[in-house]
Amino acid sequence: MERRKYFEPEIETMSREKLEALQLRRLKLQLKRCYENSQFYKGKLVEAGIHPKDIRSLSDVAELPFVTKPELREEQKAYPPFGRHVLASPNTWAELHPSTGTTGSPVNTVWSYKDVKLISGWTARTMWTFGVRPGDVIQNAFSYGLWVAGMSTHYASQQLGCFVIPIGASMTERQIDYLLNPGPTAILCTPSYALHIAERLKQRGISPEDIPLRIGCFGGEGGAEVPATRDKIEKGLGIDAFDYYGCAEIGPTIGSECPQKAGIHWVEDQLLIEIIHPETRKPCEPGEVGVLVVTHLTKEATPMIRYWTNDLARLDKRKCKCGRTHVRSPGGILGRADDMIVYKGAKFYPVQVEKVVRSFCELSDEFCIELTTDPNLGTDACTILVECLKEEDIPKVVQQVKHGLKEECQVTPEIRFVPFGTLERTTFKAKRIVDKRDKRA
Ligand SMILES: [Zn+2]
Repeated sequence: MERRKYFEPEIETMSREKLEALQLRRLKLQLKRCYENSQFYKGKLVEAGIHPKDIRSLSDVAELPFVTKPELREEQKAYPPFGRHVLASPNTWAELHPSTGTTGSPVNTVWSYKDVKLISGWTARTMWTFGVRPGDVIQNAFSYGLWVAGMSTHYASQQLGCFVIPIGASMTERQIDYLLNPGPTAILCTPSYALHIAERLKQRGISPEDIPLRIGCFGGEGGAEVPATRDKIEKGLGIDAFDYYGCAEIGPTIGSECPQKAGIHWVEDQLLIEIIHPETRKPCEPGEVGVLVVTHLTKEATPMIRYWTNDLARLDKRKCKCGRTHVRSPGGILGRADDMIVYKGAKFYPVQVEKVVRSFCELSDEFCIELTTDPNLGTDACTILVECLKEEDIPKVVQQVKHGLKEECQVTPEIRFVPFGTLERTTFKAKRIVDKRDKRA
């Protein structure tokens, strides 16, 4: 196996000073391109009273306006097919990748031929970061097709000299057949799907020791860095598990953990990463949780300037023990800004419930947060649905789960036990909140 530690050593271990100078150079060029070639961006900058020449340092970026998903949705509706933020001419377009459309009509993203190369390159780097090496056999269980992650990891696997099984996010029984033969050494999918595969593996009586799988990287939703979830994936599949992040508008795989498992390293030579306070809209202090905001420094076709991902994270700018200088987000994605649940005065996120539920070996990995309206009081009610593997354990577990939730979320929602197998298993992203509250005017 190739022993080289880094995929691109000079970039990954570049001093912060050099890296930030590179970012600034690329940012200036990208802003100039956007201002000169896009009525969408020019309009936004003029409205904000800023000219690209006003950006003289990386901290000046805080003066630039954000780009949001609803705004892109409106833009592409008003200026079909893809909006005025498409900078490259159609003869350079290579692929179309819309967002999943879970929160409204999909937002289209265009990759030019140059973008395909760029994205495959940085995806290959993130895969190398968590341990993929030439000769690995990759079970790519990310959804192929319109969703971005399947294609990018496929291209990157080939660039790395790996053998790919392009199975996609379906056919769980065949996933298991392939795990046995030809026996991949690495698997990529969402954390929810990894747990589902592990559960089926156990039900089929196959021990993780019977499969040659060595590592896995899990993205598309948060969770891979929740200790209890990581532990279940690692034990269930007999692997080292790592966290991965991407989003359709920016790129499918723009960061992954290194063997230190100390948070997602961002691809900082290609992207400017900011954490912004959701209310003040000002940059957060290092370590403070806020919204991940990303700027494309090099993307050609649909560059995003200060894209508001709505995903919550924190930044650690200290050099990692692995030697990489690119910033990290410890804990990965901590939730969606709009997934925050406000209940009895406390604020919490599904990821915190996940942390508690998955720390109990008596429970399955699935859970659901149901929000309803109390018919008598008209107030919000919150119930956590969980599955207990053995019915006789319920009386013992219920108090412990309530205690765990009180500690983690500062609230005690109702707990309802449903029979094992009732809650939906997913091959894609898990839906954790079911909102049945009366709609208020
Ligand atoms: Zn590291």
